[in-house]
Amino acid sequence: MARVLGGIGASHAPSMEQVYDRGHAGTEEWRPLFGAFDEVRKWLERIRPDVLFVVYNDHFDHFWLDAWPQFAIGVAEEYPIADEGQGARDFPPIQGHPDLSWHILRSLVADEFDITVCQEMEVDHGVISPLPMIDFSRGAGWQLPVVPFASNVILHPLPLPRRFWKLGQALRRAILSYPEDIGVVVVGTGGLSHQLTGPAFGAVKQDFDREFLKAIAADPERITHYTHEDLMKLGGTEAVEVVQWLIMRGALPASAVPHIEAYYAHRIMGYAVQAYEATDATKGTNA
Ligand code: FE
Repeated sequence: MARVLGGIGASHAPSMEQVYDRGHAGTEEWRPLFGAFDEVRKWLERIRPDVLFVVYNDHFDHFWLDAWPQFAIGVAEEYPIADEGQGARDFPPIQGHPDLSWHILRSLVADEFDITVCQEMEVDHGVISPLPMIDFSRGAGWQLPVVPFASNVILHPLPLPRRFWKLGQALRRAILSYPEDIGVVVVGTGGLSHQLTGPAFGAVKQDFDREFLKAIAADPERITHYTHEDLMKLGGTEAVEVVQWLIMRGALPASAVPHIEAYYAHRIMGYAVQAYEATDATKGTNA
């Protein structure tokens, strides 16, 4: 049976990609964030997951206004890198794990979560901004196959935060019922505080960010009591993406605690990364 080895919560942002691609990740300015990603990479290299399940939101790079799913899973063999307007980043397509994708899809639908199926999917910075920092391929393509899972935090009405939490619990059931003995790490990307439009452009809400990091670790259900409007007021309009961490946290045992954590309020964002090693990878639920 498959195991949930742990979880990762991570900001996603084109700015992270720029820093990485220009070779600035090790600079004094960016080490407070990228140093933690190095720790995450070393941890993954030690526990050797077979697959990453990555929850993210598309930024109008694969989906468009003609049809926007609430939740969508990729079931492809591979996922090309989306061109977000400046040419696609210089990485090969990400390898998929179609068999696990289909299993999780069937299990979620049987569990009353109706998920859009994507036979083809280009992945944007929602997936690809943290990935090069945590994959341990050392330049030999990608080491870690990915199951991409897109959620709607863009076009209202959005699924409720509670829906994300419950979906995480259903995801745990889905992974644990996969018949092969593989290890999965669940990743939730997005946030933390940022606002990219209007008079509050660039506001960073450190109090909200620190409170969120505490709550997602110790009392994640508390976050389900926020409305989308609460999250946007507290963290900035784009901060509503942080609900995607609830799927990651919902897929972990309640007892999981972050063993790697960094928060870096810098320029126009509150950046964060958190990693949880699941002490009990196969048993029970988090309910
Ligand atoms: Fe985003």
